[in-house]
Amino acid sequence: MTQLDPTAAANVHYATDPRIRHLAEAAWRMKTGGSSADWLALGKDNPDALIPEAREWVRAAVAAGLLPVPSSDPGWKSEARRAAEEDPAVDASERCGKCKQPFDPDDKRFDGLARFYLTPYCRGCVDRCHDTEIADHRCVICA
Ligand SMILES: [Zn+2]
Ligand SMILES: [Zn+2]
Repeated sequence: MTQLDPTAAANVHYATDPRIRHLAEAAWRMKTGGSSADWLALGKDNPDALIPEAREWVRAAVAAGLLPVPSSDPGWKSEARRAAEEDPAVDASERCGKCKQPFDPDDKRFDGLARFYLTPYCRGCVDRCHDTEIADHRCVICA
């Protein structure tokens, strides 16, 4: 590699570049075999979520010219988000309000992706919420 442009990477932050999130999630899921929802449940400040590592790699890739420089254009951001995150064909009401995964009516396991009765949440999220042993647990379901 002959060219390295560290200034190009200066605007690569978790809040401004959705690629960091996608990369962190992908790395974590490959490492642990967990789902998107499992990764989300870690929270962005959890060191296990690999976000600082992903930020360094995206910065390196931008500096080396492997990835385009992030843009502040809202269109670019929603494009980057959509690319890895959501299937735009699925309506928001057809997704779990917590893990954002599309409901799967056939996944009726106690921790599956079928909708939990008439709630806007999947069975897995409701199960994790009700079963948690964390004393100060709070999420959108029990808030
Ligand atoms: Zn869910
Ligand atoms: Zn909860």
